[in-house]
Amino acid sequence: EKIRLGIIYGGKSSEHEVSLRTALSIMKAVDANKYEVTPIYVQLDGSWVKGEALAGQLPETIDALRLTAGAQSPNQPAAAGQELITASKPASMFSIGQQVDVVFPVVHGPNGEDGTIQGLLELANLPYVGTGVMASAVGMDKWMMKTVFAQVGLPQVKYVGLLRSQWEKSPEEVAEKIERELGYPCFVKPANMGSSVGISKAKNREELVQALNLAARFDRRLIVEEFVQARELEIGVLGNEELMTSVVGEIIAAKEFYDYEAKYKGAGTELSIPAAIPAHVAEGIADIAKKAFQALDGSGLSRVDFFWDEKNDKLYINEVNTMPGFTPFSMYPMLFQAAGISYSELIDRLVQLALERHADKQ
Ligand code: ADP
Ligand code: MG
Ligand code: MG
Repeated sequence: EKIRLGIIYGGKSSEHEVSLRTALSIMKAVDANKYEVTPIYVQLDGSWVKGEALAGQLPETIDALRLTAGAQSPNQPAAAGQELITASKPASMFSIGQQVDVVFPVVHGPNGEDGTIQGLLELANLPYVGTGVMASAVGMDKWMMKTVFAQVGLPQVKYVGLLRSQWEKSPEEVAEKIERELGYPCFVKPANMGSSVGISKAKNREELVQALNLAARFDRRLIVEEFVQARELEIGVLGNEELMTSVVGEIIAAKEFYDYEAKYKGAGTELSIPAAIPAHVAEGIADIAKKAFQALDGSGLSRVDFFWDEKNDKLYINEVNTMPGFTPFSMYPMLFQAAGISYSELIDRLVQLALERHADKQ
């Protein structure tokens, strides 16, 4: 009996293309004897289209992936064999419930890994891969995530959280508070984003103003952090309540920071796996990563990112990514590859963890 696996991908977010790459990789990697895949594509306009089960016919390119699911202009009626689920009718999602056993949502960013799709899947009573509603929501909002980390005493950089409205109403006051509490350089981020979208480094007041204005275009919740001169280390966590950690990897960015270009266009970025770091640092990372995962009530997978100030041997947790990049060349799968778990085995394990978690809840 094959497992009927629905893959939700795309999404109304700046990480749409990244999601397509992940979905394509998963479809190519799963064993056709074990899985029957149904692509469920969330188009850029937010409408959903669902394709026929692939029955061994896997898409080879991202364009084929869109067509397999039945991508089309939202103004056109659904073609034969396709079902257009409009954003105004999310309840149509429930009809998918009869056609799949488990869902792998690979939509990054807002309306993807922030608990919204997870909530829909909960309502549909469908098992799904990865983090649940609460951990997804907390993990997506950097401000809330930092609040939780602080509560459980995890080491992190100094930060200031603020609302866009505060910034717009009293820019002078906000800038002074940031200068007083953090100083320059600092990092300005929209709270609810990923892939470095809307993030910039500010070295003076003028750049801070620009950076806050930019971040405010993406979110009403903003985060400013003190800058740390540090190496960027990442670890994978796999499991529900019993957790396994991967080896530690390092990102060596040629650019000033690990921005969108560097992440996805390979602009001189290198991944070093395993990272050349002392054992006590790797142990500290594994320990903090598990604590962070548990504090959020994570499940399935997460990639936990760190800054390590080598000079002062200080470790800071940066963030938990509940839906990390998941192509075979992304950090998370490569970290587990190095720990002896292949890409397709990783997918098998995640599906099993999804089914176990679902059974646990009943
Ligand atoms: P995202 O969720 O978009 O990946 P991050 O918070 O990880 O956002 O920031 C993106 C990148 O910016 C990091 O990988 C790192 O290179 C750089 N960066 C972020 N915050 C800091 C900081 N406080 N100090 C130094 N570099 C930072
Ligand atoms: Mg992130
Ligand atoms: Mg990051």
